[in-house]
Amino acid sequence: MFQPEYEMMDRERLEALQLERLNSLLARVYETVPTYRRKFDAADMVPHVSSLDELAGVPFTVKDDLRAAYPYGMFAVPMSEIVRVHSSSGTTGQVSVVGYTAGDLDRWSDLMARTFAAAGGTRDDVVQIAYGYGLFTGGLGAHYGSERLGCATIPISGGNTKRQVHVMKDFGTTILACTPSYALLIAETARDMGIDPTQLSLRAGVFGAEPWSENTRAEVERQLGITATDIYGLSEVLGPGVASECECQCGLHVNEDHFIIEIVDTETLQPVADGKFGEVVFTTLTKEGIPVVRYRTRDISRIVPGECSCGRTFRRLERLTGRSDDMLIIRGVNVFPSQIEQGLLGIKGVAPHYQVVLSRRGSMDQVEVQVEVSPEVNFDEVKTLERLRARVRAEITSALAVSIGVRLVEPRFIQRSEGKAKRVVDLRAEGSE
Ligand SMILES: [Zn+2]
Repeated sequence: MFQPEYEMMDRERLEALQLERLNSLLARVYETVPTYRRKFDAADMVPHVSSLDELAGVPFTVKDDLRAAYPYGMFAVPMSEIVRVHSSSGTTGQVSVVGYTAGDLDRWSDLMARTFAAAGGTRDDVVQIAYGYGLFTGGLGAHYGSERLGCATIPISGGNTKRQVHVMKDFGTTILACTPSYALLIAETARDMGIDPTQLSLRAGVFGAEPWSENTRAEVERQLGITATDIYGLSEVLGPGVASECECQCGLHVNEDHFIIEIVDTETLQPVADGKFGEVVFTTLTKEGIPVVRYRTRDISRIVPGECSCGRTFRRLERLTGRSDDMLIIRGVNVFPSQIEQGLLGIKGVAPHYQVVLSRRGSMDQVEVQVEVSPEVNFDEVKTLERLRARVRAEITSALAVSIGVRLVEPRFIQRSEGKAKRVVDLRAEGSE
């Protein structure tokens, strides 16, 4: 454990620390960020709470607030204090820009060092960072954490997959950090090159930046011969390092000394009890550059009830089912691509590569899931294929509670990604893709 004095903090002391930091935050943003002053004034509130429960009465911050303040309008310090700028990946429209002070980078490094330590990392490890370096927070966030822990850090960034395999073999990589879908591509590429990744020094992986299922975890662990842990973060709140799994692999410990997590009902927006699902909301307690108060992430999850056997006292966020932006509504039923994945991956004969294709026939929306068959399946044998298709369709129907079309495709039909996997292809708007 990198900082046991915090990570195993007594809950009572932790909550006292949170309250003190929360009040300092509220006073600070009221003073320095016009958006918060306006919101707090409109809610007729003073920037002070006498208990953590009172946070529920403070207005939310949403992505549109950050967009409206583009680029620097929500920074809480003058630009002379900012030493680093990142931005969100912009997959859902205009990006938001985030700034870090030197103190922010220092704390971020500590939090990511906790992440690598929680995955079993020590200063003896060789860490290959295959997250993208750049405006995306993943690469540099992981980089500084790995260095802070004292690991030999390889800043290879994403892409050039054959080189990833060569480096992994020649440099003796022991921990891989990237998206889970990229980890699968690296495994596949290694086998193509005649290298069995399970025979290399690699022993652990720190994976995030996209929702993934337990089945994908099993697949990544099997193909690479490693223990795979999940991490969570988003640029508006920090980047990676907000929450991460320990080796128990039973939910992601939220760094509660730096963030307050709330789960709110998606309809009423009222906080729900631990164990209940809802939208994940974060308040940053110590960030200086661009702190956020009750930021609605659009991610759906819940707090795992109970204590973890690792000894950390921070509560655990259940691995993400999906971002509400990724949710599809199929004949009135809410569907996340990760549920399709969960339905698929236990089936022998299909590979962990799939895509949901939306199209329009007349005025009707059509949904089809394309699933790759494994290389060992004879794609020309119609009977085998038809049996497999029926099985896949039955599994998906049972996982989603709605029936959708399935098409089996040949191995490698679905385009691989070196970053976040593209799970949904929307052909409904004419002229697009
Ligand atoms: Zn734990």
